[in-house]
Amino acid sequence: MIEIDGAAGEGGGQILRTSLALSLCTGEPVTLHSIRAGRPKPGLMRQHLACVRAAAQISNAQVLGDELQSRELHFAPGPVQPGSYQFSVGSAGSCLLVLQTVWPALMLANGPSSLQLSGGTHNPMAPPFQFLARAYAPLMHRLGAPAELHLRRAGFHPAGGGEVTVNLASAAQSLRPFDLMSRGEPVSTQAECLAPGLPRHVPQRELEVLCEAMGWALDPKQLLALRQNEGPGNALIATLTHANVTEVFMQLGEKGVAAETVSQRLVKDLNDYLRQPGAVGPHLADQWMLPLALAVWKTGMTASYTATELTLHATTNAETIEKFLPVSITTERTDAGWCVTVQ
Ligand code: ATP
Repeated sequence: MIEIDGAAGEGGGQILRTSLALSLCTGEPVTLHSIRAGRPKPGLMRQHLACVRAAAQISNAQVLGDELQSRELHFAPGPVQPGSYQFSVGSAGSCLLVLQTVWPALMLANGPSSLQLSGGTHNPMAPPFQFLARAYAPLMHRLGAPAELHLRRAGFHPAGGGEVTVNLASAAQSLRPFDLMSRGEPVSTQAECLAPGLPRHVPQRELEVLCEAMGWALDPKQLLALRQNEGPGNALIATLTHANVTEVFMQLGEKGVAAETVSQRLVKDLNDYLRQPGAVGPHLADQWMLPLALAVWKTGMTASYTATELTLHATTNAETIEKFLPVSITTERTDAGWCVTVQ
């Protein structure tokens, strides 16, 4: 039985998701207390509950405390069953955070899985679909865990209604950790804008300001055609492909925030990444730790990566991972950026 203090470090929902993911992978029951104590509305929100329910569904787990606002949870998984599953957040909460909760355990299972997820696909404080498909999934593939992701329908706050399908191959025998020490030479850049249900001038302006600031050519195809009934919503997305890694950055438009401001925020994110050495940006830096730690645990090998930034989110995640797996995660500031080593 592993005990986790949900108030540790950042005190957010990632402690819960990492604990569920690794409880499933190791078969170790876990008790969490003070869940999301660091957040203004602590305890389980609907999207966290969706993660608990999905984790329970794939492992026939015994669960206590799986209620809205609950600050304590006991989770005892059974064996993880690969197969076909449907997970619904039941609100505009991110269905991609649900995916990241069950992905590690399903990839370690002895058969493929196919998932249908519904909820938000472009949420604040969560990886957007394009980030998972272009940045995260290719790294997982290189790790030995191929996956196919399809965006069937975009879902934005507050309407939700997004749909994603995912096919996960079994990686039980194929995980191999690798070093990711530099991003490599630039290969391509891409800007795109989702703006269902909004007047056309909004995405047009966002793309113009973004492309002008970055010195990128403006291409009419960047205005992605979405059905009007997928919105309203607005996501401005930039994809930077380098030889060794692809990074995806997103800013969401909000009511009352000028199109120019959305673009300027994204330009800042891009420049923060481009200005510094480090293979991955701040979000991949915290998300890559868990799958890499699983591969290190399974093979006994060591692997490192560099990042432009290590957030409190990342260091909190490292501490949670170390509670479940017999690995050590060290971080060090180097000339190549922050270096994270898992051994
Ligand atoms: P809460 O307690 O409110 O649920 P949390 O700890 O679950 O908070 P965050 O800290 O905001 O949530 O982060 C959730 C995850 O989403 C993190 O792994 C973070 O890297 C990722 N994330 C947030 N924004 C982006 C983004 N724009 N692109 C990629 N990943 C993102």
